[in-house]
Amino acid sequence: MALLARVVEHPCVAVHAQTPAEALVAEGSRLVGVRSGGATYRGRAVMLATGGYAALWGRTTNSGDSRGTGLALAWWAGASLADLEFVQFHPTALALPDRPAYLLSEALRGEGALLVDAGGRPVVDPLLPRDVVARAIARFRREHGPVYLSLRHLDPAFVWQRFPNIAVQLQDWGLDLARDLLPVAPAAHYCMGGVRTDNAGRTDVPGLYVAGEAACTGAQGANRLASNSLLECLVFGRRAALAALSDAPESCAHWRRSLPPPGGEGEYEVSPLARAGRGIEGEGLAMDDAALGHALDRDLGVERDAARLSALAHALPDPDHAAKPTAHLVAALAARAALRRAESRGAHYRDDAPEPREEWRGRLCWRRGMVAAEFERIEP
Ligand SMILES: Cc1cc2nc3c(=O)[nH]c(=O)nc-3n(C[C@H](O)[C@H](O)[C@H](O)COP(=O)(O)OP(=O)(O)OC[C@H]3O[C@@H](n4cnc5c(N)ncnc54)[C@H](O)[C@@H]3O)c2cc1C
Repeated sequence: MALLARVVEHPCVAVHAQTPAEALVAEGSRLVGVRSGGATYRGRAVMLATGGYAALWGRTTNSGDSRGTGLALAWWAGASLADLEFVQFHPTALALPDRPAYLLSEALRGEGALLVDAGGRPVVDPLLPRDVVARAIARFRREHGPVYLSLRHLDPAFVWQRFPNIAVQLQDWGLDLARDLLPVAPAAHYCMGGVRTDNAGRTDVPGLYVAGEAACTGAQGANRLASNSLLECLVFGRRAALAALSDAPESCAHWRRSLPPPGGEGEYEVSPLARAGRGIEGEGLAMDDAALGHALDRDLGVERDAARLSALAHALPDPDHAAKPTAHLVAALAARAALRRAESRGAHYRDDAPEPREEWRGRLCWRRGMVAAEFERIEP
């Protein structure tokens, strides 16, 4: 809130609340503005900082706004997306019917919280890395039953004093953080993938910059370490702002190969974003948000395999044939990426290919109009 207050007071910033970017505006080959509700906001450059896409999953720790709309806008404008298959699942989100997948922080485990079954028996070492713990919990739930986070063996006064916010939130839902067994399950949490940028937030479309979780700078690799994302927002956000202010008009990232933004001469609109909730349009195969969330939980979750990914990719229309970009096209691309990557690496785990494979050391990059993703090898 302190940051928001400073932004509102800043003489160079005009805040337009409740004004979602619905389309990007280009002039020639350069993006020059954003359209919302019939109004156009023009500027020296366009910077998307619209967050990730983890809220496409039914079980998510994210707010409902994190549905990849910025990625859809950028992709439609001709920018490359990368690493979409790499989505981090937080292992310990509350798993109660009719309650959100509320995040039970890693700090709880850091202070000694255990992961146990209904009889209090340990399920997995709570201090192992996120992806390992998430897989162990998912498997145990599938094969045996619920998994609980337990702080019962700790001093209740200490628990309340150390975690007052979590304790109060749980109390509202009738749970005692210090005394109850808290049912947990993994939930989609953070997206390593996004709009591909260089180290200064540049995309491969002139005038378009991206920062924050919407961007794929590569800094998080295939599996970010907890708490690195806010650091990335600060460091790369500043770099992107400086580049947007100082770049020459036609500057863009160097990997751009062919596709110019669709459109024509003068000022024209790209990326007329379809409203969330309508699914991907274009082939009569629309899925609503709830159905999509369920499908992603089931087929593009903590553990994946070729059969389920293939079924999912086929259930989602080809993004290149969509009549309009929607947040759901990101799901379609992520499913295709996870299917292509026939190995396990970082947060992407394939039951049918459980080890990393040398030939997959690299990134899958997607751009509108390409038949398939480009694989870009990363040398060790
Ligand atoms: C529960 C939880 C706990 C976390 N804890 C940590 C932590 O301890 N440390 C850490 O480093 N990271 C943490 N993260 C991750 C971190 O919070 C995010 O990576 C970070 O907030 C992303 O910032 P952002 O500005 O890119 O996106 P966001 O904070 O998601 O903000 C994006 C904004 O864009 C808006 N928006 C979306 N679409 C549009 C549109 N079309 N037009 C206009 N506006 C739009 C959204 O409404 C939102 O206000 C946590 C995440 C969650 C969910």
